[in-house]
Amino acid sequence: MPRIKKIAENGRDKIVFLGTGGARFTMITQLRATAGIWMNIQDTRIYLDPGPGALVWARRRGIALEKLDGIILSHKHLDHSGDINVIIESMTHGGKRKQGIVFAPEDALSTDPVILKYLREYPEDIVVLKENTKYILKNVEFSTGKKMYHDIERKIENYGFKFHLPGKTISFITDTKFDEEIIASYKGDIIILNVLLAENKPHIFHLSLADVYNITKIIHPKKIILTHFGTTLAVQNPREFTRKLSDDTGIEVIAAYDGMELYIDQ
Ligand SMILES: [Zn+2]
Repeated sequence: MPRIKKIAENGRDKIVFLGTGGARFTMITQLRATAGIWMNIQDTRIYLDPGPGALVWARRRGIALEKLDGIILSHKHLDHSGDINVIIESMTHGGKRKQGIVFAPEDALSTDPVILKYLREYPEDIVVLKENTKYILKNVEFSTGKKMYHDIERKIENYGFKFHLPGKTISFITDTKFDEEIIASYKGDIIILNVLLAENKPHIFHLSLADVYNITKIIHPKKIILTHFGTTLAVQNPREFTRKLSDDTGIEVIAAYDGMELYIDQ
């Protein structure tokens, strides 16, 4: 087995892409990991969307899950939530220490819940996410924009997030069909964009590479990081599409890879 790069805790603000695969086929084949995103910003450690493999990949990369300050779940689909219970157990030392805050949409807790009831006493708090709302997690302020458009009847509750750091905003645009108002509600300097597809498919409620053009016109970010790749993009050489997108839009577009560390303190 190749050596797995450990993530250093060097006090710098960074986002670590533990998994860059998205949706069910990349998940069940593990063409790319579906372990979500870990970040340490303003001395606040956050796990965003711990999908299947989160526990294993975090441990293999040497991440101290017992230091987590919070877990944020965008929506309850399995590729985002598969490991949330075991990450809650890790954050709270198996339920022995009340620690950390879990943020999740209401339908991840009520109908067909993905967060087990017996674990809900373990964290310090469970906060139900709402549209256009500000939250504080230790030293970090973040907010939601509009609810995403991720299924035909807009039943699945799904949010993106904006992290408001000194001098810059980092936006996570999660799973959604392209919608001008939704995109406009996630303005940021750095955009982490879940792109599942190369081209739009009307019956699939996800963003595609083709949407990047319209998104840059609405948001004008300084940098875009693509992640959450479906099976077609997961196996493609990302340079084939990132170079063209950067040239065409004049904005730096990069593709995340499993284990990528993005320093955001520069
Ligand atoms: Zn989804």
